[in-house]
Amino acid sequence: MLLGFKTELKLNKAQRTAVRKHCGVARHAWNWGLALTKQILDHNNALPEAKIKFPSAIDLHKWLVALVKSENEWYYECSKTAPQQALIALREAWKRCFNKTGGVPKFKKKGRRDSFTLEGAVKILGSNKIQVPVIGVLKTYERLPQVLTKSATISRQADRWFISFRFDVETADPSDFGVSAQSNASLRLRSGQTLGLSPERSRRAEPRHTDVVGVDLGVKNLATLSTGEVIAGAKSYKKYEAKLSRMQWLNRNKVIGSANWKKANLQIARLHRKIANIRKDTLHKLTTLLAKNHGTVVIEDLNVSGMMANHKLAKAIADMSFFEFRRQLTYKCELYGSKLVVVDRWFPSSKTCSNCGTKKETLTLNERVFECDHCGFEIDRDLNAAINLSKIAS
Ligand SMILES: [Zn+2]
Repeated sequence: MLLGFKTELKLNKAQRTAVRKHCGVARHAWNWGLALTKQILDHNNALPEAKIKFPSAIDLHKWLVALVKSENEWYYECSKTAPQQALIALREAWKRCFNKTGGVPKFKKKGRRDSFTLEGAVKILGSNKIQVPVIGVLKTYERLPQVLTKSATISRQADRWFISFRFDVETADPSDFGVSAQSNASLRLRSGQTLGLSPERSRRAEPRHTDVVGVDLGVKNLATLSTGEVIAGAKSYKKYEAKLSRMQWLNRNKVIGSANWKKANLQIARLHRKIANIRKDTLHKLTTLLAKNHGTVVIEDLNVSGMMANHKLAKAIADMSFFEFRRQLTYKCELYGSKLVVVDRWFPSSKTCSNCGTKKETLTLNERVFECDHCGFEIDRDLNAAINLSKIAS
């Protein structure tokens, strides 16, 4: 299955000039090809008895090399794959237009949706460098997935430049990435998408790959990290859940199979789907954030089936989808080259003082603040557990 990835580039002055030139060449090739193909269509409409064969992308590129390149020297400063890919995209746009799945292709204006695609020698080097033809090695602000790719698209949004590429994942389920395989939608892992966490992880933040993070999955909050960050989880979900139970209650007296009953059931099903999507999206954001930004992620092997017996906890755990969390984290750590450490569930992460290491005999679920009897240290219960987990791998 093909997945997309998009992230911001950290360009120097020379590279900025180079990417602008490539955008110019790609736009020029597209506009030239579009003008030519429009002329051919006009000709074929006017003279149906003397039709010219509509050119393929290869035809267009041959003509471009023969007619356009020699007269426009600046083409030689850029990778030949930029105009080539522009013409392939143009031919695809015409194909969609002929199939009636897309409109007539439009001329591109400078500064509007500037982009180009390069093919061939595209290679991910280390955690935050990518090599592309002619322009060379480009740096990114965040970690790149360690995958193979054959082409990359560079695009501009205001004064920021982004690179996107696709890669094949064999085992993953399309919904794992919150995108459908058909749409080939971007993963949208742009820097700065961090669930509204602390400002230190701003969009310009350097990736931190060497550190260890301990994660305490909680009932009150979705997760507490040993760095002190707290991910509350999707709030909107609770709101929808209240709505759902109200709708189910209102539906209790309707005649089964009646039009009103069907209508209400459809609404209930939609709401269920909405809640499931919010939940999944939150988990994806969390697991991506953890796997991408930390060299080692430490989690606890939760005895979920044992905890399910505790009725109070059961619902909260089901909501937080611990199983799904672990599953996503496992393959995402592999994808980003991070290490996942799963700590034995008998490890007393909550009962141990993260300051002096003394273990408490008892700690009830209601005790939200950990107080050490030995050294007098006081700390949020979940943060204490997360720090203890991170210490295991440090
Ligand atoms: Zn202590």
